[in-house]
Amino acid sequence: MKECEYRQIPPGTPAAPPSSEPPAPAASSMAAAAATPAHGRRRKWEVFPGRNRFYCGGRLMLARHSGVFLLTLGLIVVTSGLFFAFDCPFLARNLTLAIPIIAGILFLFVISCLLQTSFRDPGILPRATPSEAADLEKWIDSLGTSTYRPPARTMEVVINKYMVKLKYCYTCKMFRPPRTSHCSVCDNCVERFDHHCPWVGNCVGKRNYRYFYAFILSLSFLTAFIFACVITHLALRSQGSDFLTVLKATPASVLELVVCFFSVWSIFGLSGFHTYLVASNLTTNEDLKGAWSNKRGSEFANPYSHKSIFTNCCAVLCGPFYPSLIDRRGFIQADAGTPSTPKSEIPSFGTKSDASMCVRGTKEILRTLCASWQNPRRPQEALSNI
Ligand SMILES: [Zn+2]
Ligand SMILES: [Zn+2]
Repeated sequence: MKECEYRQIPPGTPAAPPSSEPPAPAASSMAAAAATPAHGRRRKWEVFPGRNRFYCGGRLMLARHSGVFLLTLGLIVVTSGLFFAFDCPFLARNLTLAIPIIAGILFLFVISCLLQTSFRDPGILPRATPSEAADLEKWIDSLGTSTYRPPARTMEVVINKYMVKLKYCYTCKMFRPPRTSHCSVCDNCVERFDHHCPWVGNCVGKRNYRYFYAFILSLSFLTAFIFACVITHLALRSQGSDFLTVLKATPASVLELVVCFFSVWSIFGLSGFHTYLVASNLTTNEDLKGAWSNKRGSEFANPYSHKSIFTNCCAVLCGPFYPSLIDRRGFIQADAGTPSTPKSEIPSFGTKSDASMCVRGTKEILRTLCASWQNPRRPQEALSNI
């Protein structure tokens, strides 16, 4: 995960250009844009600035480089397919019909969770429109003093009695809300950013984390189940005959064993790690950076934690479903150069309910943050969580 590059902008200068060159539209976007007649109404996904691919008229989205995602899908489908074709008939005949039924249910659940994680908007925040960016620049400039130093591009807000430092994103032209980070692969700011996962071909964030967690957890069960069943299959077949002869007679089962053996450890480890994150209401991003570790003293604990494992699990996995803020299927307004953001509830910073935070646009974020800023108390020590 690579952060945006930061540059200080002297007061009075016009809006700074992004730190990197603006990304070229995705290949599918260009194709769709070329196919759209000049007089036709274009949808917002066709001019989406991030590095994403869109399918089915913008209903599905994926990171641009999705080769590893296809490998994940292929490994699951091929391994499960070999199991159903070569092991299940024998096991159903000699043991119980429950084995193929359980494997089938697990397989369908795993695939549905994977597709939900991969093709869903992970919680992308729309970039500021030119007018919003200009307003923000003006406001930041107004904070400058008579000294030569430009105003710092950070902002401090109180969340659950803790000071949290918000950083300015030069690409999206806004202050990132708490727990938001800019994905350098997809070139988007993502709410409650966990990490960018090439295996699922998407960022993992506020809107798809629960599917990601369900995916790795159910994949652990499926892998362990297939592994145990294949071992049982080979053991039953080898009764009264040479084990090596059985292995030569069942190459598909051997292949399944190898794939399951080498993948089960990493999948189990990942499931355990994310179970710890869910129980602590942490993200991978925060945990790797040690944002809320106790190195600064126990008083700087994770401000988003509900102090109870059960409540944290409920908050992360059973919270409300959030609408997508990028409104990728919406039409571009004829009089607007950039897509507008959909209407949603203005967030309330300063409370623990980060899960209920929903933004409308940079102006609204700014207004809400300014309200939080009215508190003149300066932080004893600013915390940086992003
Ligand atoms: Zn950003
Ligand atoms: Zn990403």
